[in-house]
Amino acid sequence: MPYTESIRYLKGVGPKKEEVFKRIGVSTIADLLRYFPFRYEDRRNVKKIQDLKEDEFAVIKGKVVARRLKKIPYYVKATRVRDILEIAVSDRSGILLCTWFNQGYLYDSIQPDGTVIIYGKPKKYEGKMKMIAPEFETFEEDNESLNLGRIVSIYPTTRSLTQRFIRKTVSAAFGAAKTKLVDPLPFDIRDKKNLPNIVKSMEGMHFPLSFEDARLARERFIFEELFFSQILVYLRKAKHRMQKSIVLKVSEQLISKLKSNLNFSLTASQNTVLREILADLEKPYPMHRLLQGDVGCGKTVVSAFAFGVCVSCGYQAAFMVPTEILAYQHKETFEKFFNGLGYRIEVLVSSLSAKEIEKIHKDLKEGLIDIIVGTHALIEAKLEFKNLAFTAIDEQHKFGVAQRALLPQKGNNPHYLVMSATPIPRSLALSLYGDLDLSIIKDLPQGRIIPKTIWIKEEKRSWAYDFMKTKLKEGRQGYIIYPVIEESEDEDLKSLELMSKELKKEFVPYQTAIFHGKLKSEEKLTVIKKFQQKEINLLISTTVIEVGVNIENATVMLVENPERFGLAQLHQLRGRIQRANFEPTFIILSKDELPEDVTVRLKAIEASSDGFKIAEEDLNLRGPGDFFGHMQHGLPDLKIANPLRDLEILKEARSFAYNVIKEDPYLEKKNHKPIRDHLDFWFDTNTDLALSK
Ligand code: ADP
Ligand code: MG
Repeated sequence: MPYTESIRYLKGVGPKKEEVFKRIGVSTIADLLRYFPFRYEDRRNVKKIQDLKEDEFAVIKGKVVARRLKKIPYYVKATRVRDILEIAVSDRSGILLCTWFNQGYLYDSIQPDGTVIIYGKPKKYEGKMKMIAPEFETFEEDNESLNLGRIVSIYPTTRSLTQRFIRKTVSAAFGAAKTKLVDPLPFDIRDKKNLPNIVKSMEGMHFPLSFEDARLARERFIFEELFFSQILVYLRKAKHRMQKSIVLKVSEQLISKLKSNLNFSLTASQNTVLREILADLEKPYPMHRLLQGDVGCGKTVVSAFAFGVCVSCGYQAAFMVPTEILAYQHKETFEKFFNGLGYRIEVLVSSLSAKEIEKIHKDLKEGLIDIIVGTHALIEAKLEFKNLAFTAIDEQHKFGVAQRALLPQKGNNPHYLVMSATPIPRSLALSLYGDLDLSIIKDLPQGRIIPKTIWIKEEKRSWAYDFMKTKLKEGRQGYIIYPVIEESEDEDLKSLELMSKELKKEFVPYQTAIFHGKLKSEEKLTVIKKFQQKEINLLISTTVIEVGVNIENATVMLVENPERFGLAQLHQLRGRIQRANFEPTFIILSKDELPEDVTVRLKAIEASSDGFKIAEEDLNLRGPGDFFGHMQHGLPDLKIANPLRDLEILKEARSFAYNVIKEDPYLEKKNHKPIRDHLDFWFDTNTDLALSK
């Protein structure tokens, strides 16, 4: 079956090209056919140069009559241009000038006297038609049917693979596989959705005869991609539901008692979410739930109730968190919360002595510890529990998929709750986290004041210091955040080490201290403790405090080089000062000159403090690949679908997938065989999913 065969067997693909293709993720014919163009060029009408119209995209075929590469000496600082490549192309009707900036490497590929195809938007300069940075290809006499006189596909590529070579190879692959392509989408679904079949779609994607062809084909593959991601989601879900859980009976008396231990009452959404979680604990299959909510909305306390239920039923519970500081912080919170109940709560982190660790391991195995809060140390292979029934993971995005999966494996199908402060819209989250049920805390505790965000440049540094001093004088505490600990040679980043000396003097008589990942564990704990007890007024830190640290009296933060941080990270940092009912101020001090994308980012953080909005903006700015990659949801990468843009298709795909799995959870039916085959072919379904009984 040619579909699975290496592209090596295609004409023109030698070992060298095979290697280059491999680097862009293409090894087989199947891969190549699904290596989709990202746009098209309309080359149906080749224009004469004399007929060019300003601002209208056009294709020109002509001879290179002159070429010139101008290098700009490095000491000409006023411009970012390093070189200018210019060519003149003639088609007898006229002359077209083309210019590229900083693409001097193209020089050698444009042969004088060679024929080229130019695609771009002409502009008139001093009476002459000119194109700035147009697309170009060298024209070869043989087989131009793919490259000219039609709508032409443009692929993502590297320098060593030309567009025309990709086109030629895809064409060969399509020719070889065409008659053997099996449509992975069942006919009835395609029919209902009015989607073209696989052969038509492949053709429309790579070699469309009209833009409508291309659009339909793309829509089909977007649907297909999302449909299969949702099939995977429902298969996983089905697998969870087949597991038998430890049923944890919820005692309402306990819930009331715990609520009365709090010096606040839960918000409406905290209560809703709490009920969703408690209901799960009583179900015959294990909870598998994601708890989303903006920074500071109070996720910890909600999870704490579930810990209480678990222990009150006589079982053990584990809480995995990304940092040691957080582990100790949660332990303390829990100890207050469970005051008087006699639960034994311990911390397990790798910085403990071997003896301490050994003792905790032993006590966990014997069931002497009720709640263990820890870092990665909790998923160490030799750690065993006596009867683990509830597991939770805080700041889940800080862990890899595999790491997260290890925690529940420490028990016999324990309940599993993951928490995230990177909230994304519900419909998106449902589809992307898929196999997890979803709870969202939508509100913040009453009285919380949204931080004021102020973006300043270097000239206002002393203003920022003065502002912070007034806050410290009022009795509040503050943070100053640096992107790096030590000065590095070539970067003009502010470093913590260097600045902390200055700051110490600047902020006399206030107490400052430094805090970063390279401090010893004990030192870290001491510093945080002192900060908590207000012995330190100003903490000079790296982003290690980004994660979950909860110091209510700290209400002002200055971030240096905010251009170095992503949106989510800045929002997390800002979350540190929004912990109680004092007015918080978040100051970002950027370089004077910034690239466009950074400006957009900093403006976004200035404009909104709503985590949901920030996440959406982040998604828009970074694009789905990067954004969702970072969320590590454990689903295959999306290549052409963008869940935000394609949300409606996603919802539909989800509902089709739901029906398929509901009707046929093992994909045994004849009309579902192509689905099953497609899964087996593209995904590691056997190890991952309950496709076999
Ligand atoms: P996050 O959701 O970011 O993990 P935390 O769980 O750390 O937030 O909670 C932040 C702070 O808000 C904690 O000090 C917590 O005690 C407090 N808190 C939580 N819920 C409420 C509430 N309903 N009313 C007032 N304060 C609350
Ligand atoms: Mg938290």
